[in-house]
Amino acid sequence: MNPEEALSLVRPCILALDPYSTARDECGDNQPEVFLDANESPYENGINRYPDPRQKVLKEKVAALKGISADRLFLGNGSDEAIDLLYRVFCNPGEDNAVSIAPSYGMYGVAAAMNDIAFRPVPLRADFSLDEAALLAACDAKTKLLFLCSPNNPSGNVFPQEQIERLLESFPGILVVDEAYIDFASTPSLLPLLDRYPRLVILQTLSKAWGMAGLRIGLAMAAPAVIALFSRVKYPYNINILAQRMALTRLDPAVLDHHVAEVTAQRIRLQKSLSASPFVREIYPSEANFLLVRVDDADGLYRRLLDAGVIVRNRTRVKGCEGCLRISVGTPSENDRLLEVMGVPVHRGAADVALLGDRHAVVRRTTRETAILVDLDLERSGVCEIATGLPFLDHMLEQIPHHGGVSLRVSAQGDLQVDEHHTMEDVGIALGEAVAAALGDKRGIGRYGFALPMDDCDALVLLDFGGRIDFRWQVRFDREQVGGIPTEMFSHFFQSVCTGAKCNLHVEARGDNAHHKAEAIFKAFARALRMAVARSPFPYDLPSSKGVL
Ligand SMILES: *Cc1c(COP(=O)(O)O)cnc(C)c1O
Repeated sequence: MNPEEALSLVRPCILALDPYSTARDECGDNQPEVFLDANESPYENGINRYPDPRQKVLKEKVAALKGISADRLFLGNGSDEAIDLLYRVFCNPGEDNAVSIAPSYGMYGVAAAMNDIAFRPVPLRADFSLDEAALLAACDAKTKLLFLCSPNNPSGNVFPQEQIERLLESFPGILVVDEAYIDFASTPSLLPLLDRYPRLVILQTLSKAWGMAGLRIGLAMAAPAVIALFSRVKYPYNINILAQRMALTRLDPAVLDHHVAEVTAQRIRLQKSLSASPFVREIYPSEANFLLVRVDDADGLYRRLLDAGVIVRNRTRVKGCEGCLRISVGTPSENDRLLEVMGVPVHRGAADVALLGDRHAVVRRTTRETAILVDLDLERSGVCEIATGLPFLDHMLEQIPHHGGVSLRVSAQGDLQVDEHHTMEDVGIALGEAVAAALGDKRGIGRYGFALPMDDCDALVLLDFGGRIDFRWQVRFDREQVGGIPTEMFSHFFQSVCTGAKCNLHVEARGDNAHHKAEAIFKAFARALRMAVARSPFPYDLPSSKGVL
């Protein structure tokens, strides 16, 4: 592979370009102390200086998050800038052309038109799968760019990596894969392919899963030779100083994961609920944060939603999307509002359960008093994000991922101005439901768990997932409160867990210090859970009165 292979495709005027250079570009790492080079105002107000044209700090952070070196990364004023630059770098106006799947993102065609480049949309099949032969048939010697979008907007599907690799082998131009929605997809990004294919350009963005559409920051990732061309052609200060600063403070992968889990759970809920809507004919499977839905009267329903204050994207006039609305996934209450207009009864008080993968469940419970989200992954450890509004309960719940070897996120908004009762009860139920959902049919698990960690307190927790529900609690607290929580609430909490998980749960504890006693119970619970959910801990099946689990 020749890493500079793409250079033969570049417009001659771009190869010959002598790019604009700032005085600060020229001084390299030797940073001056007095800036009299750029005719800026000398009065410091946070924005009086030009931004870093190379976005060094932000680029390094984003590159590290993506697991690539910074010389493979271009940051643009939205992905839209990267799309425009692709045309300006590779396509001679009035001469070259670009091929794209259709339906897909509108900017590929708009940017082509602005640059006087012939644009050739090639229809996907009726089920939105990729027609490789048709794509290649549309290409000729003047085709410089081929656009794919995966997951595709508006259809929501991902194209198989084998197909994309075959196109990389057979198409001699630049293959652009737009991964704007990749964070929501169950398949990984194609970034690892960059090492092998010097004509591959991958686009991503901070506008969708990262929640920063207002900042306008898009990513193009490619071979260093291609990135160097982008950097020469872009406007010097394309990412403003506030966007660079703000993005740095918001690039927290834990927040990304949390939001992706919530949105995915909501997408699954919408998918299920919308199929009960009298207006819906078809819902296309989605790996993104939206659903493409075919309805009876798209224009009519679009208007009805708008009259009710809900705007969706009407795609009925897009070829291949006749009768379709594209609906972005919102917050649970926004989705409820959508469903109500769509004629779907919304059950409040019920839990929404979504399975995000093997033994990974997300439960959302919304009642009049509380809104709880529990995200439990029995197969993966390392994530612990607990925010219930009750700091002592947070501290206790943190013992579960720490000592249970699981990943746990809990967020709760409850009526704490009344008291902690509803919040503790509903967190307990949702946690139990998440355990039950993650365990699924429970095949091959240890089933039993017991533990007795000894600090200055003993706690004994027995768990059995055999199917019977039985709760026993032999714990006495000498104090009425610990950590601001009435001690009686702990038995109520674990009873709620037991109800939600439909298990046997027996708890005993001894010791003097109420804080330590509560903590020992949560630790013991975590250890017992770890044993009970472990897969095939013994080389034989455990018999049960109901057969083998
Ligand atoms: C939303 C979207 C983008 C993002 O564009 P930005 O300019 O980065 O906000 C890119 N590609 C597709 C397919 C999109 O849907």
